[in-house]
Amino acid sequence: MRILVTGGAGFIGSHLCELLLGQGHDVLCLDNFFTGSKRNIDRLMDFHRFEVIRHDIIEPILLEVDRIYNLACPASPVHYQYNPVKTIKTSVMGTINMLGLAKRVRARILQASTSEVYGDPTVHPQPETYWGNVNPIGIRSCYDEGKRVAETLMMDYHRQNGVDIRIARIFNTYGPRMAEHDGRVVSNFVVQALRGEDLTVYGDGSQTRSFCYVDDLLDGLVTLMEHDQFCGPVNLGNPEETPIIEFARRIIAMTGSSSQIIYRPLPSDDPRQRQPDITLARTILGWEPRVSLDEGLAQTIEYFAGLTPTG
Ligand code: NAD
Ligand code: UDP
Repeated sequence: MRILVTGGAGFIGSHLCELLLGQGHDVLCLDNFFTGSKRNIDRLMDFHRFEVIRHDIIEPILLEVDRIYNLACPASPVHYQYNPVKTIKTSVMGTINMLGLAKRVRARILQASTSEVYGDPTVHPQPETYWGNVNPIGIRSCYDEGKRVAETLMMDYHRQNGVDIRIARIFNTYGPRMAEHDGRVVSNFVVQALRGEDLTVYGDGSQTRSFCYVDDLLDGLVTLMEHDQFCGPVNLGNPEETPIIEFARRIIAMTGSSSQIIYRPLPSDDPRQRQPDITLARTILGWEPRVSLDEGLAQTIEYFAGLTPTG
């Protein structure tokens, strides 16, 4: 198949391009290189079945493809808050453009949605039936509400135009090729620990997240895309929940670092807790994560150690 991956030079997108090439597909990687990098896709350039298109999904594009993975959107709070208007345009206008393309060429399209559609959840763990608790006017809303509208657009193009859609609600995912300075907790803590710098815990560190290794996520995304009928939305994440303070201690222990923990103010609207209910993914897709946090972190630390001089 010819497969378009928007955001293909980013963290998840570059792994997905690599996996799809390995499966024998033709892969078109589309990216505006806002948070993605050429280094992420360097090793793919030798494949004659791989193409890169520098393009912004806010503008329409004409392509002939069978599948579209719509991943284009900055994912780190630091990056998506840098230009919030652009972020929401990417999720709204960008998704309309990709849905228009899917409709025109009858491609199946998968939207990378997010656990952020649940906001600061009052139901725990979060099942897909929960409608969420999102502040519509806060500093995270450009991302959260943008992704919620993207889900609405997917459903409406499906109901109105019969577009073949898939919606994955991705929970915190980590692994090699996260950008070193993208501000997310995994890359921040690993890089700080390797450099012997203090680990910056925001708030008191009692807020929780559940971290999924990128290989597990890819397996879920491709399984959902190739499922015969099931459109989602479906949660894809690892249900192992960790308070951020414990996560910081774990990274210090795993890196053998002499770093200390320091506390910084909690950003506004930072969700208190987050854990996916993956009953639906288990039942319908037969999917669940296989990589433990220790195994996944070991791979991630090794990757960053290759980039970063240890402190
Ligand atoms: P990332 O920032 O590494 O990758 C995003 C990619 O999209 C980058 O290559 C960037 O340059 C590109 N991009 C951004 N805006 C674009 C635009 N307007 N036009 C074209 N390209 C554009 O982030 P990631 O972690 O790889 O996330 C990929 C997708 O998965 C995003 O849609 C994100 O919202 C979603 N997601 C990720 C996580 C996670 O924990 N990593 C969790 C939930 C959802
Ligand atoms: N966080 C932290 N220190 C950092 C970066 C993040 O304590 O250096 C916290 C952040 O406040 C949040 C959690 O770690 O509670 C996860 O943050 P991240 O930006 O990775 O993703 P989010 O799930 O908030 O989108």
